[in-house]
Amino acid sequence: MSSIGQKILVVEDEPDIRKLIQYNLTQERYLVVEAEDGEQALKLVQRDTPNLIILDLMLPGLSGLELCKIFRERPDTARVPILMLTAKAGEADKVVGLEMGADDYLSKPFSPREMVARVRAILRRTDSSAAAAETAPSYHKGTLKIDYRTYEVFARGQQIRLTLKEFELLRFLVQNSNRVLSRDQLLDRVWGGETFVTPRTVDVHIRRLRKAVEEDDRRPRLILTLRGVGYKFDEKALAE
Ligand code: CA
Repeated sequence: MSSIGQKILVVEDEPDIRKLIQYNLTQERYLVVEAEDGEQALKLVQRDTPNLIILDLMLPGLSGLELCKIFRERPDTARVPILMLTAKAGEADKVVGLEMGADDYLSKPFSPREMVARVRAILRRTDSSAAAAETAPSYHKGTLKIDYRTYEVFARGQQIRLTLKEFELLRFLVQNSNRVLSRDQLLDRVWGGETFVTPRTVDVHIRRLRKAVEEDDRRPRLILTLRGVGYKFDEKALAE
């Protein structure tokens, strides 16, 4: 996929860093729009949805994390990948950022080459999956086949029986392939609004799903646990 015309929104209050990013991405023929704070960023996305957002955590006014949460809640930006910039080396920020729905992070100071490589990688993996995912009536990759209309699932040539919740959970994981999803996000999307569900509910369903789709559910390769963060559907494992 060519970078030409792919639009990237850079939200960063430090002009030097913003320029550095802008310069390097423009060299690679990406279209770059710049915002120096959250308010400006929200105005810009309202006008036109970018293909990717580079978001600094430390912003005046709305913080990067708050902004990330807003982007994830807005229907127009819910699926736009976010590369987070963190100034601190602290793990906590990264974890919270990923929980809020960021796709990847880069610690400052970063090399422009590394930044461009990350952008390219994120766009490559989201382009191929996201565009097709929401509208496709079915999913078929490697040994996994899901029919979203008939609710039939085949894994390694065998039809598997899932409860409605397990099916919804699998669908959400697959449609957000390679993205880290927190238990709260999963609860929200799959069980939205229901009472008497806890993060434990998610774990229990994940365990059952693994029994159904993994070759060896004690060594899961498709539905991965990211300790302290959540789960991720690793589409790569299907291609092997
Ligand atoms: Ca900053």
